[in-house]
Amino acid sequence: MSKKYNFYAGPAILPYEVMKKAQEELLDFNGIGLSVMEISHRSKDFVGVIDAAEEKIRSLMEIPGNYSIMFIQGGASLQFGMIPMNFLKGGKADYVNTGSWAKKAIKEAKLFGTVNIAGSSEDKNFSYIPGIQLSPDAKYVHVTSNETIGGIQMHTFPDTGDTPLIVDMSSDIFSRKLDVSKFAAIYAGAQKNMGPAGVTLVIMRNDLIDNGTDNLISMMSYKTYREHKSLYNTPPCFAIYLVKLVMDWLETNGGIEAMAATNNEKARILYEAIDNSSIYNGTAAVNDRSKMNVTFRIAPGELETKFVKEGAENGLIGLKGHRSVGGCRASIYNAMTLEGVKELIRFMEKFEKKNK
Ligand SMILES: *Cc1c(COP(=O)(O)O)cnc(C)c1O
Repeated sequence: MSKKYNFYAGPAILPYEVMKKAQEELLDFNGIGLSVMEISHRSKDFVGVIDAAEEKIRSLMEIPGNYSIMFIQGGASLQFGMIPMNFLKGGKADYVNTGSWAKKAIKEAKLFGTVNIAGSSEDKNFSYIPGIQLSPDAKYVHVTSNETIGGIQMHTFPDTGDTPLIVDMSSDIFSRKLDVSKFAAIYAGAQKNMGPAGVTLVIMRNDLIDNGTDNLISMMSYKTYREHKSLYNTPPCFAIYLVKLVMDWLETNGGIEAMAATNNEKARILYEAIDNSSIYNGTAAVNDRSKMNVTFRIAPGELETKFVKEGAENGLIGLKGHRSVGGCRASIYNAMTLEGVKELIRFMEKFEKKNK
């Protein structure tokens, strides 16, 4: 099998070492002679996995003790609904409209109260991070730290004072160092930067959880997940196991700081290649460019299909932009190596020479 470089936006690349480890342990986990997929979620072996996953997440992100860590199903998309369902209570919330994902969050929140659009970059096709105007009576402020489709990223976060700041961090969690205490809640689907699809990580301050609406079905209430340590019902055991392996991998490889340094370098050289070329055009405002999802167009447009196809023939997979916006996109999450990005740049340069 020739070497493949995976630039898909999600589900996305997982560290090779993690896949290898999962393969080795697939049939015999912890020497028990059974797979982690076929053991009780209440067995000590699986409880060991979920506890270790939680503990490693807490230590890697330096999450303070007054926050709970929960594993929930339904993707980040369920969080779009669960957040307002628990906290809006017919009141008002500020939402920053930065793109496709923010829009979906806004749509769900409107079912439970009033949404104030505290900032929007819709006027320019979501190519930048807008200024933010907070309302005094918002129950919370919701932002999307990285818009996976548009390729824009918040490099700083608004100071919301006593108003809880809630962030969809699906596509850049674990990619850079953050002060968790600035956020009341962070949620992220695993399949971009921490594992396979099927589990969503929710990190939430306990006083926010306490404030949640009481008359909800159990599976929609954060209190249930906190009280039962994400084991109220059967959790996505195998996905959580893989998240735990990714956390091991992060630890072994220098943690978030080391990831951030490599991520900065990967993004720097790729954007530099785009800026130095005559056929590739970055779509995001320079100051708001994402270090995870690098979006660009190729002129003339017909070249984009050719680029994606020839990229794949050269082992560079998943360079097509999201179907809603077109163009090209290279997702360069933690598990993408610097070498992988250099390989992409070499291909881009060759492609440009042949096609300009
Ligand atoms: C992928 C993504 C989502 C949706 O995640 P699902 O797990 O498919 O629900 C939401 N927000 C962001 C920023 C994403 O990248």
